[in-house]
Amino acid sequence: MRQPSITIIGAGFGGLSTAIELKQAGYRDITVLEKADGVGGVWRENTYPNAACDVPSSLYSWSFAPNPDWPHRYSRQDEILAYIERTARERGLLDLVRTGVEVTSATYDETGGGWHLETSAGEHIDTDILVTAVGQLSRPSIPELPGLGTFEGPAFHSAEWDHSVDLRGKRIAVLGTGASAIQFVPGIQPDAGHVTVFQRSAPYVAAKPDREYTRTHGRLFRRFPRTQRFGRELTWQITEQFNNALINDTVIKKAVKLGWRAQLHRQVRDKELRAKLIPDYEFGCKRVLFANNWYSTLVQPNVSLVTEPVVEVLPVGVRSGDGTVHEVDVIIYGTGFAATEFLAPMQITGLDRADLQARWKSGARAFLGLCMPDFPNLFVVYGPNTNLGGSSIINMLEAAAGAIRTLLRHTEEQGGRSVVVRADVEERFDEEMQSRLRESIWASCHNWYHQDGGRISTNWPGLVKEYQQRCADLDLRDFVVA
Ligand SMILES: Cc1cc2nc3c(=O)[nH]c(=O)nc-3n(C[C@H](O)[C@H](O)[C@H](O)COP(=O)(O)OP(=O)(O)OC[C@H]3O[C@@H](n4cnc5c(N)ncnc54)[C@H](O)[C@@H]3O)c2cc1C
Repeated sequence: MRQPSITIIGAGFGGLSTAIELKQAGYRDITVLEKADGVGGVWRENTYPNAACDVPSSLYSWSFAPNPDWPHRYSRQDEILAYIERTARERGLLDLVRTGVEVTSATYDETGGGWHLETSAGEHIDTDILVTAVGQLSRPSIPELPGLGTFEGPAFHSAEWDHSVDLRGKRIAVLGTGASAIQFVPGIQPDAGHVTVFQRSAPYVAAKPDREYTRTHGRLFRRFPRTQRFGRELTWQITEQFNNALINDTVIKKAVKLGWRAQLHRQVRDKELRAKLIPDYEFGCKRVLFANNWYSTLVQPNVSLVTEPVVEVLPVGVRSGDGTVHEVDVIIYGTGFAATEFLAPMQITGLDRADLQARWKSGARAFLGLCMPDFPNLFVVYGPNTNLGGSSIINMLEAAAGAIRTLLRHTEEQGGRSVVVRADVEERFDEEMQSRLRESIWASCHNWYHQDGGRISTNWPGLVKEYQQRCADLDLRDFVVA
């Protein structure tokens, strides 16, 4: 029987996980299309100072490719990128990846039963199976401030760091205090003239139990791989407990919160500054961040924290809500990503000309974050409701890749050419997700997990184990094979 052609969009952890899974399953006609010039996804993009992982590397790595040589417990961006590149090479994936190809649209061919893709260069590509793995955090978001383009100095987003700009001695405005800013501000502060940090909402920043791995660790992990597996298992159990604490308000949540408070009090003696750093929402509602040098950086004499919002960008700097003009040489946007705009700006058209972006207008949704009725042979990796508050996304990506493999096998065994989830199944699943999420901690404040209309379209409401089980135990009656 003819092998189906499989096209995967995106060569980050998600696309590569799927390519490895399907290659192992014996599929030979696999192509990965990547708009950038290399593999790695967010770990190729985010080169800002101190960019690093929030989850210990023993867990933030592929389950089938442990790395005894991690130099730190929490890996840095360049270490993760090197790991991705090496694993892709070793698994024979680099030959499958076409870089510099940006997919702009995908249209289902009702007669042929496959997908017709168009790229920004005007190329047409036909494929039987389409997997999108374009990430949730791959499109930088900059607020639409008046005067945005008028600033006369360099201005860039943290995910598009401009390394040609010499920050030494400069007056720098940093907008945002999210996961990226708490890493790069301590990185630029020592050499900067002055850093003005604009904080819209204070994050909870708990201590990060980071450490260097010695050569002895490497030797131990290599000689006795079980020790590293044990470390992964332990970390996994801890992060699951942390996820559970976010969902069910357990004692662990109280313990981490106590740790946060202790760190804040230890590093910030000035009561006025400390008051500004106390979040005004419940612990866990926004992503809990981990760093040891965020608060200690904010107390440095060349740093000021402004809690007034930035309301305008000027040729000489920015204006805050109280009317103050802050003159600066450089503006850095640590303002996050367009996380809820799944698959945008690609145009996806399914059966009966169903427009996916129109369907998702009030919030993206998909069965297991993976498949949608009326969009046969289309699978979304790191799709709606598969993000986590405190564990490794890679586990979710591997689980989704396994589910795709099962569905492709099932389709073959049924002698079919296409597979699609039943509409009633997806509807029931979405109701379940939204009812669980309405009760969750994430519903208690405004955060980036929310769609404008109020739905939480990014996060998974359970433990990672539950997602893995549901992907592994698919009820094949939930799908229609044709
Ligand atoms: C700074 C940062 C730190 C993070 N830290 C952690 C962490 O500690 N723990 C954790 O679990 N997760 C973390 N994440 C989340 C991270 O997004 C996931 O862990 C994981 O890397 C997602 O992989 P992905 O392949 O799904 O997406 P991405 O890595 O975003 O890759 C998507 C790829 O698709 C490509 N692409 C997009 N659109 C197109 C198109 N139209 N045509 C062709 N190619 C396209 C992009 O260029 C990109 O290479 C972090 C994210 C960021 C940004």
